[in-house]
Amino acid sequence: MTFDVETLARDILAGKRRALSRAITLVESTRADHREQAIALLERLTPHAGNSIRIGITGVPGAGKSTFIEAAGLHILERGHKLAVLAVDPSSALSGGSILGDKTRMEELSRRREAFIRPSPAGKTLGGVTRRTRETMLLCEAAGFDVVIVETVGVGQSETAVADMTDMFLLLLLPGGGDDLQGIKRGIMELADLVLVNKADGDLSATANHSASDYIHALRLLHPRTRNWQVPVKTCSALEQRGIAEAWDVVTRYRETLTASGELLQRRAQQAKSWMWTETAESLLSALRSDQQVARLIPQLERAVTAGIKPPTVAAAELLDAFLQNNRRPLD
Ligand code: GDP
Repeated sequence: MTFDVETLARDILAGKRRALSRAITLVESTRADHREQAIALLERLTPHAGNSIRIGITGVPGAGKSTFIEAAGLHILERGHKLAVLAVDPSSALSGGSILGDKTRMEELSRRREAFIRPSPAGKTLGGVTRRTRETMLLCEAAGFDVVIVETVGVGQSETAVADMTDMFLLLLLPGGGDDLQGIKRGIMELADLVLVNKADGDLSATANHSASDYIHALRLLHPRTRNWQVPVKTCSALEQRGIAEAWDVVTRYRETLTASGELLQRRAQQAKSWMWTETAESLLSALRSDQQVARLIPQLERAVTAGIKPPTVAAAELLDAFLQNNRRPLD
């Protein structure tokens, strides 16, 4: 597959969906020549990106994430926005298919021209998956999507990764049961900027209200993530589309408050800096792993380390030495 970076960039800026899809395929590619083109494209488009509110959403499977995103998404479109929905699912590499990529999800939203839905990229590491999702987010923004939702399931470190790439982090919970019961780790509560107890309908209404006040108490004990923001806890029913407009109002208020206090810009600046270092580390590691002479050393060093013959620190130093020796360039 070949790509013409300049044409792609122009078409993306003109809002052409096909160009956006092709560009995402380009950033997801692992081929070295594609990587170079992807970097050129991102460099060209980054000045046009960043004009969106980036929202991360997490919740255990079954909490109602896709039902919620469908309902909230349609509301967001009604308000005149363009919405991109992305996903981070590091388990997709293991399961062979993405839990979040199921085609039948968000049926109505996926038919709308003002919405763009992209399942999680496949990847062997969380770092690989999040890198591509971050880049895809920039592409979507350059294409004119002014609301970006990044969805993730409550597995491993993916929530932290998504909270690190978004402006606001939304935690979707089920009525009843403590956070332990829902498999929500304590640390996740600390990341939340908004907590929603979903399925507040029918028999579950009263339980949902109880849960909401439990979470309000639990949050009081936590160190606030943002100085000027008291994390709201609300109930909603994605199925009956209740509490959805209210949730969107919270997002709007959050954006206004943190823009006024300068915290939104600060958060993004911090994220950009740590993204640069993650990117450097990832690129260095993949260059090291694909270096042929280093690759020859790896099996014997791994054997020596597993057998306890060689300390890991020493083995790491040897790998790094071999890599640096091979890649030393003559001084100008
Ligand atoms: P996800 O795994 O978090 O994406 O959850 P889904 O959106 O697929 O929803 C899981 C199940 O819960 C589905 O059967 C939904 O119909 C149901 N569900 C989602 N939201 C609500 C809600 O607000 N109320 C009720 N009663 N059921 C819901």
